[in-house]
Amino acid sequence: MSWHRIFPSFSMASAPIKSGLLIVTTLILGWLGAVVINDMRDAANLLDDRRAVRAATAALSSVRDNLSSTVRDNAVWDDAFAKIQGPGAVDWIFRNWGRTTEDYPLYDGVIVTAPDGSTTSAYWKGEALNDSESFSTLNPQLHQSLEAPSNPHVSFISSKGRVILAASAAIRPYSHQVNDGGLSVLTFLKVINADAVAKIASDHQLVGLHLTLAEPESGLNVALDGFDKTPVAWLAWPSAAPGTQIYSSVRPLVAITLGLLGLYLFGISLAGAAETRELRRQAWKSRYEAMHDPLTGLHNRSGLVDELRQSLVVGQGPACLHIIDIDGFKAVNDAWGHAVGDELIKRVASTLENIHPDVTVVARIGGDKFAILQSFERSQDEVNANLLSALSVPFHISGRTIEIGASIGFVTGHSGEDAHELIRRADIALYRAKAQGRSQAVRYSPELDRIREERASLEAKLRHALHHDQIQPVFQPLVCARTGKIRGVEALARWLDPEGQRSPDLFIPLAERCGLIDTLGLQMIRKSMRAISGWQELGLSVNVSPIQLCNPNFSAAVLKVLSQEGFDARRLTLEITESVLMKNPEQAQRSITVLKAAGIRFALDDFGCGYASIGTLRAFGFDRMKIDRSLVVAAAENASGRDVLYATIALATALSIPVTAEGIETSDQADMVRAAGCDQLQGYMLGKPMPLADLEKALAAKVANWAEPPISQRSATGLESRRSVTK
Ligand code: C2E
Ligand code: CA
Ligand code: CA
Repeated sequence: MSWHRIFPSFSMASAPIKSGLLIVTTLILGWLGAVVINDMRDAANLLDDRRAVRAATAALSSVRDNLSSTVRDNAVWDDAFAKIQGPGAVDWIFRNWGRTTEDYPLYDGVIVTAPDGSTTSAYWKGEALNDSESFSTLNPQLHQSLEAPSNPHVSFISSKGRVILAASAAIRPYSHQVNDGGLSVLTFLKVINADAVAKIASDHQLVGLHLTLAEPESGLNVALDGFDKTPVAWLAWPSAAPGTQIYSSVRPLVAITLGLLGLYLFGISLAGAAETRELRRQAWKSRYEAMHDPLTGLHNRSGLVDELRQSLVVGQGPACLHIIDIDGFKAVNDAWGHAVGDELIKRVASTLENIHPDVTVVARIGGDKFAILQSFERSQDEVNANLLSALSVPFHISGRTIEIGASIGFVTGHSGEDAHELIRRADIALYRAKAQGRSQAVRYSPELDRIREERASLEAKLRHALHHDQIQPVFQPLVCARTGKIRGVEALARWLDPEGQRSPDLFIPLAERCGLIDTLGLQMIRKSMRAISGWQELGLSVNVSPIQLCNPNFSAAVLKVLSQEGFDARRLTLEITESVLMKNPEQAQRSITVLKAAGIRFALDDFGCGYASIGTLRAFGFDRMKIDRSLVVAAAENASGRDVLYATIALATALSIPVTAEGIETSDQADMVRAAGCDQLQGYMLGKPMPLADLEKALAAKVANWAEPPISQRSATGLESRRSVTK
């Protein structure tokens, strides 16, 4: 099992913490090692010191005991007791003890004191000792020997710079008990000289042992006590300190170990520092990457939020945020590929970076969405103007001239406000700017929020309406210009809203925006087919939104409804406006081709109010053209309008495309468009959009609100209302 598994949290800890822990652990171990070595050294020294003191003490005891036994052996002696009381005492003393002092190893001197304390005889090294006064310090011991005669008394004295051990005992007979009073005392003296000290030293391994009269200040010693227990001299010697000696011998090794340890720690610190630097670099790099757009090097959305937050810190000035959406970027990408698209984005980025000296931050917050931040409200309009003009200038990339544009939403944020909320507001303003058309800059206002909320609630209602059959078709007659008979109907969507009428001009774009148009469109086709299925010869026109037509599934969905409803495809005309042909001509063409192959016809709706060219009409193979009501109104008003109307219809006629005139409200308008060549009329005069029940009545009448056509154009037959299926 790896140590990572045992200490998972350690393996996850960051490098500086790891190396810090290692250093601390190593230092603690090093310190413990040093403490142990020191303690061992001190313990060894202490043990040896104790041994040495014990040995010295034992040596002294043995010297004392020897002299003590010797004095007892000589003092407790019938002969001695008898002789020293007799007249030849001095002589006897000399023969038995005095002469012996000359070269006897057990003692160097002898003093015999009479019961009255006077010295009977005294010898030192075989000679009579005249100044026995120099041993006056012995008196207490002599006195004690008489007081307690059963044991000898031993103590050290110093005399003339010498240290002497003196052992005293009362002289008594061995064979019988005597009265304690009136006894003489025998004292043996043994000098503690260099030889004696050297012997103790060698016997007990006490190197440097010496005798001193002054109390030693260092090293080890044992006191040589006088009779009153005050030291007379000291045996002193330096501590052998074997621990210290061993320590000294291993010190080079310890030094090397410590050196290596130091090097090791230094290495760890270096490695830790390097790793820390690398981690910091990586952290900086990932933060940079998280905050920046890789293509342009600008801040990304997170970076913008970060900068915005800093600008909104309380106490700072206002933060002016502009969000810029590039118009037409998707088309550039689609047409020229991503390499050109990327280059364009980079160019836009550098344009934005130099747009105005007050700009402090430029960010790319989406594929073709940028944001800039500046802190002066006064230059907001100037910044917008610069942006709009700089981005309307064509870019030249790889030999191509690319025109784009921009929409701007902007807002002023104040200290303490939320960065995300500010971005949301600028986004809403941008949304509005785009809805107003290209090259607009819109300032956020709370009104925009209100509109948005209304739209959201309307969207929910529309969704509900679609799922509860509240979107229903009404039908407006399409009337033959020659006969006045109803040839077909245009289905128009109506929202049966209990809250009131809503114009399709409002809810159709809403359905397009919120992705409901496919459902709505198919519902309209299905419902209007069902409604008029009974009138076999009646054509049905249904409006199709550009978004529907660009949906690749559209054609299949329509064909499915056709077959489900059993509706003849040739009766169905789909009305489309030219805008779809501009936006996504390929997909539109694919859907049209499939549906035309099935027999469905196509009419170009609202012709005359846009830019559709004759080429478009031809290329897409339209079966009919519907001229917009505005053209009809203009034609009725002035001559030039009339010329435009005539020219437009003449053009369609030349291409053999029949024309329907929309918005016919008066018989004059009807006459005019008829004269200009329209074969079909639509308008309030001929029939308003009506529910199915009204349509049935209208179909029952032969012609409705019919203004008589000129004689030449009249026909004898009208379209009869023949219901093939009776319900
Ligand atoms: P549009 O396709 O051009 O439809 C004709 C519009 O003109 C209808 O408005 C109709 O009521 C109105 N109109 C007809 N005759 C006259 C007249 O003589 N005078 C005047 N002033 N207006 C007349 P409506 O029903 O409000 O529809 C508006 C637009 O909504 C339609 O224009 C069409 O673009 C769209 N629309 C309606 N229903 C649908 C639908 O089911 N699908 C799609 N995609 N769009 C629809
Ligand atoms: Ca229409
Ligand atoms: Ca129309």
